[in-house]
Amino acid sequence: MSKKRIETICVQGGYTPKNGEPRQIPIYQSTTFKYDTSEEMGKLFDLEANGYFYTRLQNPTNDLVAAKLCELEGGTAGMLTSSGQAANFFSIFNIANAGDHVIASAEIYGGTFNLFNVTMKKMGIDFTFIPSDITEEEFDKAFRPNTKAVFGETIANPSCSVLDIEFFAKVAHKHGVPLIVDNTFATPINCRPIEWGADIVTHSTTKYIDGHGVSVGGAIIDGGKFDWNKYADKFPGLCTPDDSYHGVTYTERFGLEGAFITKATAQLMRDFGSIQSPQHAFYINLGLESLHLRIKRHSENALKMAEFLESHEKIEWVRYCGLKNDKYYELGQKYLPNGSCGVLSFSVKGGREKTNEFMKNLKIAAIETHVADARTCCLHPANATHRQLTDKQLEEAGIPATLIRYSCGIENVDDLIEDVKQALEKI
Ligand SMILES: *Cc1c(COP(=O)(O)O)cnc(C)c1O
Repeated sequence: MSKKRIETICVQGGYTPKNGEPRQIPIYQSTTFKYDTSEEMGKLFDLEANGYFYTRLQNPTNDLVAAKLCELEGGTAGMLTSSGQAANFFSIFNIANAGDHVIASAEIYGGTFNLFNVTMKKMGIDFTFIPSDITEEEFDKAFRPNTKAVFGETIANPSCSVLDIEFFAKVAHKHGVPLIVDNTFATPINCRPIEWGADIVTHSTTKYIDGHGVSVGGAIIDGGKFDWNKYADKFPGLCTPDDSYHGVTYTERFGLEGAFITKATAQLMRDFGSIQSPQHAFYINLGLESLHLRIKRHSENALKMAEFLESHEKIEWVRYCGLKNDKYYELGQKYLPNGSCGVLSFSVKGGREKTNEFMKNLKIAAIETHVADARTCCLHPANATHRQLTDKQLEEAGIPATLIRYSCGIENVDDLIEDVKQALEKI
């Protein structure tokens, strides 16, 4: 049989029950797993056998859902984490240590920016933030001998810029490091970064993948193509023996397709314990079953909303890569030909005061620190998620102080447009 199509993977990927087994993914609500002999248990601890012993490291429910996500992204191995923050932290910390350096697009989610720019800097990892429309020459200059990765978001939250994944991958590979792409907004339905050369993909499953606002979660998927051995001196954690696992060398034992995720599980999950709960993994899977239907509607609604806003006299500007005169239209057509996502950003004329007034007038769209949910919501980032950023950092992140992030749900778009229309009329 030919490779299954994306919609079929959404519904059935990751889990094929055998005769008489549960049709739906079972929730393994157990912290621990039972063995007959200590020898068998010992083999698991030495990573010599496959199996489960303690849910802080791995749980079968989580692994089934991770396998579906991995199939959707076209990767070779995947893992769930307790949040998108944990996924992005692990994706970097798995290959960068104190004294190392990472290059990230400046247009990334505020939480990730803070994680990199404050918390991981305290851990001794230095970051350089670059504009996503950087020239190759400038990009080359950002690399140092201790650079270990390049990081970006397919569609940036909330600036809505589109990453030139092929270009970023080309430059990263020229310098012998992997490209890590946070694919939260596009989802694997609208873009699969690995097909464009990205090496590692991360997700906040909290957003479209869950889609109903019920569970915080994250995921990491490895494309399995980056040749760690070729740059073994840069990545000793993957290419030399791990003393905390009886001298296992991850690339030797698990190959290029398994090394990254096995190390992240065996070391980082073991030590940081940012595990997803099996119950939440089950919810995430329910979300995945309808992701292909929802993301299509989210994208259609957002495009119609963007077109309405663009034509309204009280709107200063709108950013949505589906709009023909958007700065990212070309990149959007290349990487997101079937639609981008439900999130758009815009600004109303009249500064912060009118921004607040407008948002107060909305009746269907709720003010929430959330996006990518079945229900429409909106946020004023400079007042909320990006509050800790200075005006200069806001500008660099592509977020003007009056930007409104509007996340179109899957309601009837005419109702959403009428809601925005009446809110604008009152200001
Ligand atoms: C929300 C978000 C995150 C953080 O995810 P949590 O699940 O909230 O920890 C990371 N990246 C992007 C693009 C996000 O939108």
